Amino acid sequence: MMRNRQATNLLFELSEPGRRAAIYPACDVPHRTMNELLPSHQLTTQSPPLPELTEPDVIRHFTNLSTLNMSVDTHFYPLGSCTMKYNPKRHERLCSLPGIVDLHPYQDEASQQGMLAALYELQQMLGEIAGLPAVSLQPAAGAHGEMTALLCAAAYFHDRGEKRTKVLFPASAHGTNPASAAIAGFECIQLKDTPNGLVNLDELKAQLDENTAVFMITNPNTLGIFERDIPKISQMLHDVGGLVYIDGANMNAILGITRPGDFGGDMMHYNVHKTFTGPHGSGGPGAGPIAVRDFLADYLPGPVVTKTESSEGARYGLNTPPKSVGRVRSHFGNVGILLRGYCYLRTLGAAGLKAVSEQAVLNANYLREKLLDLLPVPHGERCMHEFVASAEKPKNEKGISALDIAKRLLDFGFYAPTVYFPLVVPEAMMVEPTETESKATLDAFADAIREILGESSEFLHDAPHATPVSRPNEVQAGRQLVLSWKP
Ligand SMILES: *Cc1c(COP(=O)(O)O)cnc(C)c1O
Repeated sequence: MMRNRQATNLLFELSEPGRRAAIYPACDVPHRTMNELLPSHQLTTQSPPLPELTEPDVIRHFTNLSTLNMSVDTHFYPLGSCTMKYNPKRHERLCSLPGIVDLHPYQDEASQQGMLAALYELQQMLGEIAGLPAVSLQPAAGAHGEMTALLCAAAYFHDRGEKRTKVLFPASAHGTNPASAAIAGFECIQLKDTPNGLVNLDELKAQLDENTAVFMITNPNTLGIFERDIPKISQMLHDVGGLVYIDGANMNAILGITRPGDFGGDMMHYNVHKTFTGPHGSGGPGAGPIAVRDFLADYLPGPVVTKTESSEGARYGLNTPPKSVGRVRSHFGNVGILLRGYCYLRTLGAAGLKAVSEQAVLNANYLREKLLDLLPVPHGERCMHEFVASAEKPKNEKGISALDIAKRLLDFGFYAPTVYFPLVVPEAMMVEPTETESKATLDAFADAIREILGESSEFLHDAPHATPVSRPNEVQAGRQLVLSWKP
């Protein structure tokens, strides 16, 4: 279903013969001279097949297209696990200052001391928040951080002459966990969760042996539940000589409240674009710094930023750790996102960060309670910063699926929650409201869900009704991309 022709038709389809954005005077190079300059067989006799449009046609087309996207700046965006936080505009402005955007990483170190100081401080702050002192800013996203940390773990075990082959993870793990482990050369073993959606200690115990390298765990887990047994789990790993990897995608729930290093983690990644407000989505730039225990510091990718004090003051430099697994990204990583994270941390400070997590958890629990009679939450009594509801009840009673609800929400001006992940919840709807949303917005979202569940399934199967494109075939839309226009 197509609505706004100006926005959704291609420029080629909007073309009208003879329309022009600019009209140039006739060419004053005599035709004869032209033929002398270029052989005639290389001269075209026809205009190139470009769309013919006025400048306002083109501007209107692109401006209208830009409004079809939903974004954190325009809509409530409760996309679970992705932490779609508001990106403070002051930080955008600071990060666009000429002294920052005009810096080049090949500049002499002496001329970029300010940038290096900021990155050094960021390393320190990330180490402190993690409770894990050694930090590399290089990885470009969370998944990249996972892989980098696992390479460090592999190098560490290799150094110790240990042949450890297995990486374990719970069934609710994000798909990047086993993918990273496989790329880093490990064998992946998935554990069954308990009926409550937590790590099953018996399952874990059965798998632990001298071949266990790493246990990867997200805490709070992807069901939005804090794994209270984590100190015990960590101890079990350490008892067999293995390491604990904390997937830090859910740090928004625990900032300043507890630290991965304090509950037994040996390595973790941050998603700066999630927790620390880097603008993200549609594969835009991210940053996935990792923090590790001191005995893993020598394996981190280089360079890391170092500080030396002398009588002339502090000097910042770049250093490659002695047993480094090597570079994983050019220069210091995605500095644009790292600096936004730095600004965010400096703006909030320790007390502000703690308030962020408290508010995020409060918002999620408020929304969870409001929706509970409509969309039951199979796991847990309370949630952390997100919850996973199930649309199994409306599906069985009325034929309304999680997908129907998600699609219809777009008509109400709400971005949809994450659906069908984690796989352990049937008809999963993973809702993460984030801390900056008001009670009024949360109430409006709950009201929209209530209204949608009162609509007929036939009507909902065709939703969304107000968007330019309604419901593409999910598989075809992902697999058969039409990337070029042919007349
Ligand atoms: C987002 C996410 C990741 C992957 O992070 P990217 O930055 O997208 O690579 C890993 N684990 C969990 C739980 C996540 O939510």
